Amino acid sequence: MAGTGKFFVGGNWKCNGTKDSVSKLVADLNDAKMENNVDVVVAPPFIYIDQVNNSLTDHIDISAQNCWVGKGGAFTGEISAEQLIDMGCKWVILGHSERRHIIGEDDQFIGKKAAYALSQNLKVIACIGEKLEEREAGKTFDVCFRQMQAFADSITSWENVVIAYEPVWAIGTGKVATPEQAQEVHVAVRDWIKKNISAEVASSTRIIYGGSVNGSNCSELAKQEDIDGFLVGGASLKGPEFATIVNSVT
Ligand code: PGA
Repeated sequence: MAGTGKFFVGGNWKCNGTKDSVSKLVADLNDAKMENNVDVVVAPPFIYIDQVNNSLTDHIDISAQNCWVGKGGAFTGEISAEQLIDMGCKWVILGHSERRHIIGEDDQFIGKKAAYALSQNLKVIACIGEKLEEREAGKTFDVCFRQMQAFADSITSWENVVIAYEPVWAIGTGKVATPEQAQEVHVAVRDWIKKNISAEVASSTRIIYGGSVNGSNCSELAKQEDIDGFLVGGASLKGPEFATIVNSVT
């Protein structure tokens, strides 16, 4: 833990679930024993946010998985930051690799989304991370710094931002980054923030790791100095395993 503030664990449910499975998952999360000194957030699909908000323990905050880039209006199929706040969300995940690489959102668009969400008092989980071919070409830092620069071009206050480093090759693949690989990028990103934003933001911002985190590998990863928490996909759909990850705080 290097960033100040609490260890942070987010569960990204992605496009999964039904009313019934969501109700079971919420019941499991409500029953689970989780450390108090951890910020825990879950991100259900938009349509289940209200159901989750009405049934989940107050100790866990709700995040959306995406939001519109500005004020709502004639934007078919989109959900605005104001609407998310209205439904009880505190957080939004932006720049997730599935939105970057499957939906085609670019760095600048994501940066603008972050700035708008923050202006509406939504906190932001800002995701960055390189693809396999970029890592193999030795471009991991270039890609992460470029994505950070786009956030930095739009964000003026970092107080409500958590950065999630999620190497694309580790997401949903079962191939987790080694603790050393993750630590190396976290340190580099923190150093980039120090040089390009400020030393204060570098030391206060939490940098969390995502990509095939599970109940078995979380403890080793959590021991790394610059890993301030996790963003969890697949394993966040299982309440007891998610609780194990929350409790890996060191
Ligand atoms: P995963 O997903 O844990 O299933 O790899 C992580 C994420 O996409 O945030």
